[in-house]
Amino acid sequence: MAYVVTKPCLGTKDRSCVEVCPVDCFYNIKKKKYNDKFGIGLSPDGEEGMLMIHPDECINCGACETECPVEAIFEDSGVPQDLQEFVKINEEETLGMSDEELDSTRCTSKAKK
Ligand code: SF4
Ligand code: SF4
Repeated sequence: MAYVVTKPCLGTKDRSCVEVCPVDCFYNIKKKKYNDKFGIGLSPDGEEGMLMIHPDECINCGACETECPVEAIFEDSGVPQDLQEFVKINEEETLGMSDEELDSTRCTSKAKK
């Protein structure tokens, strides 16, 4: 069980979720292929891609779900049918990274810095 980031994060990516995550399990996946695939432009700061959650690190606390201004985050068991593919996308992108890649893409709350 884990939470999942879905399509509305593309073109938004405001990181509100990062500020409330107790275990820093959001990763900044800067890949334009997702903007292209879903026909969504870059985020306001000009960044490609979206945040994704590492399913083995997420403790399922649910804090991020209500924090997201565009309702991009769902528990994996409750992802709407039309966004189901994002369960696999979050898994593949995060589980496929080396420790070094995880360290360089992990999003850390400003409050903890
Ligand atoms: S459910 Fe909790 S642990 Fe999982 S990503 Fe959201 S805030 Fe982080
Ligand atoms: S709060 Fe929502 S839109 Fe903002 S970075 Fe997190 S998942 Fe993406």
